[in-house]
Amino acid sequence: MAPRTITVLGGGVGNARFLLGLREYARSLPEPPEITAVVNVGDDIWLAGLRITPDLDTVMYALAGVNDVARGWGRVGDTERVSAELKEWGVGWPWFTLGDLDLGAHITRTSLLRDGLPLSAVVARMTARWPLGVRLVPSTDDEVETYVVTDDGELHFQEWWTRHRAALPARGFVSRGVSSAVPAPGVLEAIESADLVLLAPSNPVVSLGPVLEVPGVRDAVRQASAPVVGLSPIIGGAVVRGMADQCLTAVGVETSALAVGQYLGARSAGGVLDGWLVDEVDAAAVPELEASGITARAVPLWFRDAASSAAIARAAVELVG
Ligand code: GDP
Ligand code: CA
Repeated sequence: MAPRTITVLGGGVGNARFLLGLREYARSLPEPPEITAVVNVGDDIWLAGLRITPDLDTVMYALAGVNDVARGWGRVGDTERVSAELKEWGVGWPWFTLGDLDLGAHITRTSLLRDGLPLSAVVARMTARWPLGVRLVPSTDDEVETYVVTDDGELHFQEWWTRHRAALPARGFVSRGVSSAVPAPGVLEAIESADLVLLAPSNPVVSLGPVLEVPGVRDAVRQASAPVVGLSPIIGGAVVRGMADQCLTAVGVETSALAVGQYLGARSAGGVLDGWLVDEVDAAAVPELEASGITARAVPLWFRDAASSAAIARAAVELVG
């Protein structure tokens, strides 16, 4: 039977691409399931007095159809007049460009936060602007930011990635503030009550990791009555885009669909997965994954267009009966 409610955990770009396919697939069903996305906040940062939430914005803009597909971040057709002024004033980070339309979102968010709304309420209010077809929930309302441990000390994830392009070797990752964080309202309920839990093809270390690390979330996934199915962000031993390879190396995991599946682990063995989709080029990993207690299947995993993305989502939904 088709699921009535689906909860997806993930980060920014990989998550957004997957959610577009899942929404497309859901709309093709006679009774479209309700989709909730629990989104990583580890990349969030205060900059120029504003709260920036990159993964939530990437997903919101993509589902709204206002994202810059070619560039891979921000709003399509955006300008950078304000950012140029901030550079002159010496405020913010010169290597972290904020588009003018994008800044409108950051001002709105910061204004609502300063009015006393928790982030989850801010996200609910801001996403109501568009018929997204997916309910977005931050993993936590608390400020939990990912820092990268390097030989020169700890850097905010955004500085490591956007300034240094991940060129400083990462020795590890720290979620500052996570031990005292609590899941945002609705997060645990969305996992516990779902008919299906999906882990988007997101960075396993700095996107899925920080979501699962919020106290209570990993346990909710492990104990969910629904099947839990993940999709590999690694295809043929390489990332599709981004820096998951450097992140995996830092935590001692090989950059392969097999190793990432085993890193997330079978629920029957203390991990978070019942099923794991890998790309066709990684079909050889299927028997070993299944021997680890994870139902696996090899299907094309590149999101090329609406139809291929919907087919990927369908394969994820249908993987575990
Ligand atoms: P970020 O927060 O913007 O880095 O995005 P995520 O963490 O959600 O996703 C990043 C991951 O998405 C990267 O590791 C990519 O390899 C993966 N990804 C991007 N495009 C595709 C695709 O077309 N297919 C698959 N399987 N993975 C993809
Ligand atoms: Ca991210």
